[in-house]
Amino acid sequence: MDLSKLTIVEARRALDAKEYSALDLTNAYLENIAERDGEIHAYLEVWADSAREEAKKADEMIARGESKPLTGIPIAVKDNILIKGRIASSSSKILENYRASYDATVITKLKAQGAVFLGRTNMDEFAMGSSTENSAYGPTKNPLDTSRVPGGSSGGSAAAVAANMALAALGSDTGGSIRQPASHCGLVGLKTTYGSVSRFGLMPMGSSLDQIGPLTKTIEDARILFSAIAGHDPNDSTSLKAFESKATGKRIGVPRAFLEKGIDPDVKKVFDETLERLAKSGATLVDVDMPNLPYALPVYYIVCPAEVSTNLARYDGIRYGLSVPGATVQEVYTKTRAAGFGPEVRRRILIGTFVLSSGYSDAYYRKARSVRSLIRADFARAFESVDAVAMPTAPGPAFKIGEKASDPLAMYLEDIFSVTANLAGVPAISVPGGTVTRDGTNLPVGFQLIGPWQGEETLFTIGSDIERTR
Ligand code: GLN
Repeated sequence: MDLSKLTIVEARRALDAKEYSALDLTNAYLENIAERDGEIHAYLEVWADSAREEAKKADEMIARGESKPLTGIPIAVKDNILIKGRIASSSSKILENYRASYDATVITKLKAQGAVFLGRTNMDEFAMGSSTENSAYGPTKNPLDTSRVPGGSSGGSAAAVAANMALAALGSDTGGSIRQPASHCGLVGLKTTYGSVSRFGLMPMGSSLDQIGPLTKTIEDARILFSAIAGHDPNDSTSLKAFESKATGKRIGVPRAFLEKGIDPDVKKVFDETLERLAKSGATLVDVDMPNLPYALPVYYIVCPAEVSTNLARYDGIRYGLSVPGATVQEVYTKTRAAGFGPEVRRRILIGTFVLSSGYSDAYYRKARSVRSLIRADFARAFESVDAVAMPTAPGPAFKIGEKASDPLAMYLEDIFSVTANLAGVPAISVPGGTVTRDGTNLPVGFQLIGPWQGEETLFTIGSDIERTR
């Protein structure tokens, strides 16, 4: 079997036709991981033995004629999603030895289908970052050019799929962490409608922004994985009671004014060419005025750290993971957090605590929330006349390891186009649009489509036109 061409759809067909077994398939991935991951470092831990056991169980399901879409499909899981009995560290020192005591709802659903879990993937610590360089366990390399980052924060998941070390992967997206690595690794990445996929068992970063979603090679594979993990969950109070996605049409809004500056010219060219291809395949392009989009990045970098500072208060050296002894409880807190958190996490906690503090919360946090409503309103207005809004996923292609690591603002600018969807709670997909050449290597560039609430099917439909015409 040629793993580089394999999709979930094709593997499903071959497994059900008994052309090979789920165990053969899992072994092929494990071999490739053994060969390649020494260099790439997509995985923090590979579960070879249990993966083989799960594959054997999947083979029994297939033999009984009980196969489901993901039975025997080998997938990788981001290190911030809980699997009972497994270490889940969020790539942080503070949770280095933390073992999950229950399954995340998405894992329960995948286990019920008989999916195979290959291992947990590297990420920026607690999902803060855009390059996977903020991992406490060292960076992941982009399999397409190992001098470059795979994007982040789900960089390990993206690299695993791009290097054929998993057939698909789960990531989480708070401000672009599925779509931006998908863009940099030539994959499809879906940020799902807020509330469509349960967050139960996902370590929270920004609770009003976080969603779990798929990283896959094709749109159809993304749809399959999304259908498997979506649905109401009483354990998540923000989970939608009923989720129904229907494709509407192919009118695509382009917020031209927002795209005038800050984009690499080659990336802009790929974006414009992709729009042209869509127009040729039957889409209507409409200019949309979304005047508040330029505020999305500053709003995100107030709302997100605010939520981070409260969510991460739970890592106190007593309830979870690392505990550094001290003479007083206060000393345990400070010593544990100083030893356990990396620089970016500490920066966000400081910013978040500041913007929430009395005397400043009106000027920063409340103001940011008001502007967030204006951004939501921009989308609502746009979706009165279009079915999706298009923009690049990221302003540039994959950058060099180390290039932005010491410049937080340069790193934050990577998220300028992706944070908009999280602030509005709407779904967004990154689909490979084309490539740009850097140092003689062709690097993939993602095309982003943002849909209305529950508009996933529209994104899949328009996305398939991009896929077909590439
Ligand atoms: N890069 C963004 C950040 O650092 C988004 C991260 C994410 O989506 N988890 O906050």
